[in-house]
Order: sequence, then C-alpha cells, then structure tokens
Amino acid sequence: MTLQTPWHHEPRKFLTDAQAAKLFLEHGGRCWKCKQKIGPTELARDWSVGHKLALELGGTNDWANLAPECCLCKPLVDAEDHKAAGHNRRAATRHVIPKSMKKKSALAKRPGMKFNWKQGRYVRETD
Ligand SMILES: [Zn+2]
Repeated sequence: MTLQTPWHHEPRKFLTDAQAAKLFLEHGGRCWKCKQKIGPTELARDWSVGHKLALELGGTNDWANLAPECCLCKPLVDAEDHKAAGHNRRAATRHVIPKSMKKKSALAKRPGMKFNWKQGRYVRETD
C-alpha cells in the first residue's frame, strides 16, 4: 500500500457468500477475536467478516487480514478501532499544526478587554 494518512483507508470490499463460507471454514468456524465457535447452537450464532487490522488503521482487504467475527465481538472491536483511529487523527493533527494556527475560542478573554455584563460583550478595559 502507498503512503496513507489517518484520513484515508482502503474502501471496504464485500465477500460473496461462497467466499465468506470459505473464510469461515478456514478459520474452523471460530471468531478470530474471542476464539469462540460460531454456530447455530452457540451463544454467538451471528457473525460477519471482520478485518483483523481495521481498514481505518491501515488494514487491507487481503485474505490474510480477513476473519470471521462474532456478533458479540464486533461492537467491541469496532469501538476499539474507532477509538484508535480517532487517536491517530488527533495525534497527526497535533504533529502537523503549529501552535500559531490553533484556533482560539471566540469566548477567550483577549488582553486589554473585560466583559461588560450590561452590554453582554467584551469591551476595552479603559471603558
Ligand atoms: Zn467473538
């Protein structure tokens, strides 16, 4: 893969039912995360194709990165991945944006100004 930023990732690709079934059987019908067997008699009967390394974290749609993910793990994995991806984006932003470009709050007190409650806005200190 070429150089990526935390804002880009490979588009999601969907497997055909046959491909998904092959993947499922290759993994012994087990969730890659919790290693529990997924099946009609088990607690986690529903599953989907998951990415071991999430797309948003630089993962790919390569067969080796795909694995069955049970419906109990999916929300946890997704939450973890989103959290990590958000962290990466914030870290990248922090790295690239200099302090001078940081947006100042409109409510921030400017030097030489004081809040005039009567007018409901900041006015020069000399007022
Ligand atoms: Zn699982």
